[in-house]
Amino acid sequence: MDLFDKCRAFTSAREAMTAGIYPYFAPFENSDATTARLDGREIVMAGSNNYLGLTKDPRVLDAARAALQESGTSCTGSRLLNGNLRLHEELEAELADLLGKPAALVFSTGYGANVGTISALMTRGDTVVLDREAHASAIDGAQMTLGRVRFFAHNDVDDLRRKLVLAGRDGGGVLVVVDGVYSMGGDVCPLPEIVAACRQHGATLLVDDAHGVGVLGQGRGTCAQLGLTDEVDLITITFSKSFASIGGAVLGDADVIHYLRHHARAEIFSASLSPANTAAALAAVRVARAEPWRGRRAMENAAYVAAALADLGLPVGTSDSPIIPVHTGEALRTAFLWRRLMDLGVYTNAVLPPAASPRLRASFMATHTRDHLDRVVAAFRTMAGEGLVDGRTGTAA
Ligand code: PMP
Repeated sequence: MDLFDKCRAFTSAREAMTAGIYPYFAPFENSDATTARLDGREIVMAGSNNYLGLTKDPRVLDAARAALQESGTSCTGSRLLNGNLRLHEELEAELADLLGKPAALVFSTGYGANVGTISALMTRGDTVVLDREAHASAIDGAQMTLGRVRFFAHNDVDDLRRKLVLAGRDGGGVLVVVDGVYSMGGDVCPLPEIVAACRQHGATLLVDDAHGVGVLGQGRGTCAQLGLTDEVDLITITFSKSFASIGGAVLGDADVIHYLRHHARAEIFSASLSPANTAAALAAVRVARAEPWRGRRAMENAAYVAAALADLGLPVGTSDSPIIPVHTGEALRTAFLWRRLMDLGVYTNAVLPPAASPRLRASFMATHTRDHLDRVVAAFRTMAGEGLVDGRTGTAA
């Protein structure tokens, strides 16, 4: 069997390109964060994770520019060796303070923060129990260990308890992994019940708060919003959403973070976060703390659009975040709807299995104006008027 046979047999993306409905890798030229240019046209950006609207904030840009001048374009090595900057440590201290945890470890991506943390903690005989909709990076981290991997039904704490009983029979340590805010549905995990289940079964709990930090809990994230920071053992975050950069971090007790600093392979064997990205994240965290209205505004903007789409009878999922899922029912239909919205001047994320059930994922920023939001609503209204989305069935027509 030729390894490349699967590449030659992979035709669906080319077929979608030929049909003009391929929804990925659109070559945007960003104009500002709330809009983007594509083929000379201005598109309202309703599919970005730039929730606080800080990627073009002058304070963030200035900080990135200064770090670039001072420390160059790259650290050209891992944190462990030549690639550790005082700036990385300053960012770790700021994050620990923001999230209310004793210590933090910065990684070059949020993906690496999950993979590095989970794979460093698990060994043969241990079990990772993940929500079925946990982010791919958590699943990948779990699957690369010698430990056992179990899934529980999305947000279903009874099923989590069942899996914890099974994990307990296996012996070994147990790590439960959930997202604070689910990236594709915008729903918040039932954290109080999850904490109670973990406590009862002696399991360690990791909350991936990539989409909650900066927005919920006055910027301190999902655990803080629910008053449960001390009950959660580890929190992972990324800087590629609210914090206007790339990179990620894990937060927890000092001895655990010290261990991860010396054992997380995604951190040890990968070059450190660039000076400009580190400085941008640090500046964005400080702006987020000083201006908590941004998180609230992003939520209000999303709620405004969600209410208007629901009024149109569109199948909008319930959301507790700036993320609004519009369910489409079927993959091909999702691509057609995405194309139609683009023609109407609005970008959303086309989401297909295995990421999640088919949907258009819209997300909103603090800096979207009422005009931007109304343009998004108008585009959906046109599509609904054309009978493209059928709210009665809760799926695409
Ligand atoms: N966790 C979640 C829940 C995410 O949505 C993402 C990114 N989509 C990540 C982790 C990975 O973060 P990054 O893109 O910063 O590597």
